[in-house]
Amino acid sequence: MTKKGFSTTNLHSDRKDNPEHGVLHKAIHPSVAYGYEDSRHLAEVFQGKRPGYNYGRQLNPTVTALQNRITAMEDGIASIAFATGMGAIASTMLSLLRQGDHIVSSAFLFGNTNSLFGTFQNLGIEVTFADATEVCNVEQAIQSNTRLVFVETIANPVTQIADLEAIGELCQSKKLIYCVDNTMTSPHLFLPKTVGASLVINSLTKYIGGHGNALGGIVTDSGLYDWSQFNNINDTCKNDKPALWGITQIKKKGLRDMGASLGPEAAHHLAVGSETLPMRMHQACANAQVLAEFCAQADQVKQVYYPGLKSHPQHRRAQQLFKNFGAIFSIDLIAGVDCFEFLNAMETIVASSNLGDTRTLAIPVAHTIYHEMGAERRTSMGIADSMIRFSVGIEDIDDLLADFQRAVSL
Ligand SMILES: *Cc1c(COP(=O)(O)O)cnc(C)c1O
Repeated sequence: MTKKGFSTTNLHSDRKDNPEHGVLHKAIHPSVAYGYEDSRHLAEVFQGKRPGYNYGRQLNPTVTALQNRITAMEDGIASIAFATGMGAIASTMLSLLRQGDHIVSSAFLFGNTNSLFGTFQNLGIEVTFADATEVCNVEQAIQSNTRLVFVETIANPVTQIADLEAIGELCQSKKLIYCVDNTMTSPHLFLPKTVGASLVINSLTKYIGGHGNALGGIVTDSGLYDWSQFNNINDTCKNDKPALWGITQIKKKGLRDMGASLGPEAAHHLAVGSETLPMRMHQACANAQVLAEFCAQADQVKQVYYPGLKSHPQHRRAQQLFKNFGAIFSIDLIAGVDCFEFLNAMETIVASSNLGDTRTLAIPVAHTIYHEMGAERRTSMGIADSMIRFSVGIEDIDDLLADFQRAVSL
């Protein structure tokens, strides 16, 4: 069959997967357990000799349907879904890494990922944080025991864009796993596989689900990494061809043993949400561009961080790699303008910590999500006390602009 476009493929994927009664949405299957007429078949499923379901922690048909959608979106070979994005990151890394291993991570990270990597250091997995906007910093951080490089596409809240292509080439030449968190761009704006990513992480909670009504996370294997050259694969994960060894280990260690499994109801919400991803992204990015440009000329705003502005240090990189500039931007206010007052002047925009919602959400980051990490690390990440992050939604632009007009005329 001819390869169809992004939306067409996603909209019709459940229907193509041998559905019961011809349903267009994969059903929500709440069953935890699966029964077999022939007990030998149960044994064969356990031994991986027969496809089938054994227990809901490892596998569920509704979740499988969602995994297939994301695998197609990311042009990968297989995906494993988890209860949250953090569940996906933690389970993936802990499945693949061992004590004494070293990873290089972008210094510009989602706050909870940053905190998680601190936990890894307590467990004997070394982490070096590097400014990933320049590949040379990543290269300098590599050691003989380095196994993996972790970056985000557009970092939050300052919107730095990693040197994605060059880091991909570096990882390939050093045979390192290249793990890219694609949450901020989503597979609609960017396919990490095109820059050599081995593993792609998406928090489904954000743009893919898109409505702030379900949590989920997923890791997709791009098929580019040769797992036969990776020392940490257990023999029990080598039944299939080497391309599947990594995802098999993530499934057995990360999903089965650690247990952060995605529930079928959430998987259904996320799958339905994903159907409008391109349209939502289009509107949200267009709104973000208008608002960022408004802020760039406002006297109360000291600095705007948005890849769609020509002044952004990686504007050209974003233009080359991404279909659009994303829907997150941040601002620093000038001295004397209070970030809480600025936000409280807004009527439509909601003070809230989520992002990737259909609604526009805003948060004073230094006082909330980055409060715990302390002033010193905040400064090193370029996070000022007056910084506000906006996750732009799909509202009518005039209403969003009116909020900003109210805030700057305080
Ligand atoms: C939100 C987010 C996560 C974590 O996702 P949850 O679903 O909230 O656990 C990971 N990475 C990035 C870049 C995120 O924005």
